[in-house]
Amino acid sequence: MDDCIFCRIARKELPAHIVFENEHVVAFLDIQPSAKGHTLVIPRAHSASILEAECDDMREVCKVVQHITPAILSSLGAQGFNLTVNTGAVAGQVIFHTHWHILPRFEGDGKKMWPHTAYAPGEIEKIAEGIRSHLG
Ligand code: AMP
Ligand code: ZN
Repeated sequence: MDDCIFCRIARKELPAHIVFENEHVVAFLDIQPSAKGHTLVIPRAHSASILEAECDDMREVCKVVQHITPAILSSLGAQGFNLTVNTGAVAGQVIFHTHWHILPRFEGDGKKMWPHTAYAPGEIEKIAEGIRSHLG
């Protein structure tokens, strides 16, 4: 993809603070971090989202997440992290090259990722059945 920003970072046509790279994957710091050390991990191969990405590439991304996250946390003194994949504009995806966010979390940082809600009586059964029936 000639004009994809993340493909261009992977090809070193655009600058980035790369913290790790190998044959399949590149990991670099997010330029507008939600927390210090916020890191993006991408497969080199272009895909618009995780639903179109090759499973082999996702396995390589996962391996890199497991490899680099302890270093991200220990270097920043973070106690945990969120691993997120925004998919679709409605979910906040703005770069349409598959990427995983590693968001370091710090004691008392006050971030609340997901507000919880509740199902009406009988609703959870209907939703589960709807999903199963769409699987075919
Ligand atoms: P998303 O909203 O999941 O598509 O996330 C895209 C992320 O890419 C955002 O958090 C941006 O701050 C980040 N971003 C955009 N351009 C760059 C860039 N050139 N280098 C590093 N991070 C970037
Ligand atoms: Zn791309």
